Order: sequence, then C-alpha cells, then structure tokens
Amino acid sequence: LIEIEGLHKAFGDLHVLRGDDLVVREGEVTVLIGPSGSGKSTLLRCINQLEEPTAGRVRIDGVTQGYAEQPLADGRWQRLSPRQIAAQRARIGMVFQRFNLFPHLTALGNVTEAPVQVLGRPRARAEATARELLERVGLADRADHYPSELSGGQQQRVAIARALAMEPELMLFDEPTSALDPELVAEVLAVLKDLAEGGMTMVVVTHEMGFAREVADQVVFMADGRILEHGTPEQVIDHPRSERLKGFLDSVL
Ligand code: ATP
Ligand code: MG
Repeated sequence: LIEIEGLHKAFGDLHVLRGDDLVVREGEVTVLIGPSGSGKSTLLRCINQLEEPTAGRVRIDGVTQGYAEQPLADGRWQRLSPRQIAAQRARIGMVFQRFNLFPHLTALGNVTEAPVQVLGRPRARAEATARELLERVGLADRADHYPSELSGGQQQRVAIARALAMEPELMLFDEPTSALDPELVAEVLAVLKDLAEGGMTMVVVTHEMGFAREVADQVVFMADGRILEHGTPEQVIDHPRSERLKGFLDSVL
C-alpha cells in the first residue's frame, strides 16, 4: 500500500531523513521505533504530506503523493494543487501524541465534524456513524461529554474514532500512548489492536514493545534518519544485530 523510495527530508542544514526505502503492505501493521530525534515523526509527516520531501517519493496505492505522475519536459516533477493534495491526505488518518480534540465540541461532535464539513455528509448520517465508531472504541456512553470531562485515554480514543470517521485506508499513529498515565495506555492499545485485527493498514510510532511483539507484522528501527534494521518483531526485538539497536532496546524494555 505504501512504497517509500529514497526519501530525504532536510530542514535547512539538518538532514533528518536520509534516503531509505520502506514498503508497508495492505492490512499490515508497521511499528516504527528509534531514539528521540531519529526522524520517526518526520517520516509519518512526509507520508501524509504535512511535510514535503526534499527528495524521493512516497506512493500510496501506486499513486505518487504530492506530485504529478510524469515529470515536466525539463525533468522537474510538478507539484499537485493544494486541493489535489488535500484529496490525497483525506485518505490517511493520523493520531498524535496529544489528542487535540475540539474543546468546545462533545465527543460526538468531534467525530461528526469532519465528515459533515469535509465530506459533505448529512449530519444525521454522520452522527449515526459517529455513534457506531464511539461504540467501537468503547465510548458509547461518553458521546455527550466534552473533552475536559474525559480522561486522557478516553480523549485519545475519541481522537481515533474521529480519524476513522473519515474512512481512511491507512492510519498513522505518532506515539499515541506516550502522553497517557500508565493505567490508561492499555485501553488505547486495545483499540489499536482491534483495528489491526479488522485489517486496517497502520504505521505506529511507539515504544510499547509488548504491543509491537503482539501486533506488528514489521518493526522498523530508525536512528539518525536511517532505517538501521527492519523485520519481524522476532528478528528486530528478540535478535537485534546492531549495537545501536541493542542499546536502544535496553533503554526501553
Ligand atoms: P521523538 O522520539 O522525540 O518524537 P522523532 O524520531 O519523532 O523524535 P523527529 O520529530 O522526526 O524525530 O525530528 C527529527 C529531527 O528533525 C529533530 O532533530 C528535530 O529537531 C528536527 N525537526 C523536526 N521538525 C522540524 C522542523 N519543522 N524544522 C526544523 N527541524 C525539525
Ligand atoms: Mg516524534
């Protein structure tokens, strides 16, 4: 589903992603691990076009993200219009460390807003779908609560339901549990696991190794903007090859 080829991203002199390839197959869960500053968030942000790659490309379902399929006569790749980029991005759901729900809307309102505003769904239908999604993340009885009335774990589950309401074909999670109190982590991971079992294609940045071991099809270890190791959880977590990865695992396990 996702094919990343030679992806580079630099911020000025800071070369954050250094030209690796990565493939994520449909229905698979990829867990991205690595030390702080290694480029994990930047990689996710390039996948859903919150950042424009400096070089290389991301293809989703065979469609190059952000650029026309053919280069111009002078060899330059032509950028798509903001509208075309927005259409590509709408197929990808993203959930961040901080839930950033709309504080003035209830849980139901948060999940209903984008389908109504962006997809033009009739409100009644969007609300019916939103209720189903809230039930799916275990929050049927919290639909009318405001974010300030919900725990962090509940807010994060609303954020997941909100992303799902856009019917994405791919979900990106950037440390979805790292802002949560330890006792709230499990309920969010259970939702992720449920999504994975339902066949959603997911890329998850997390340091929850139990989750990675249980749910990931592929674990990718990044350091200094490079993919140093990747493979099954068994290969990467249980049989690390580099000192770099061994040291990293010692620090998180
Ligand atoms: P963490 O585990 O701390 O979230 P990360 O692996 O997600 O780290 P990134 O957020 O991708 O790392 O950042 C990689 C590097 O790029 C860091 O040195 C960061 O300071 C830098 N960086 C990220 N975004 C920008 C930006 N918009 N402008 C300048 N530098 C940036
Ligand atoms: Mg990050």
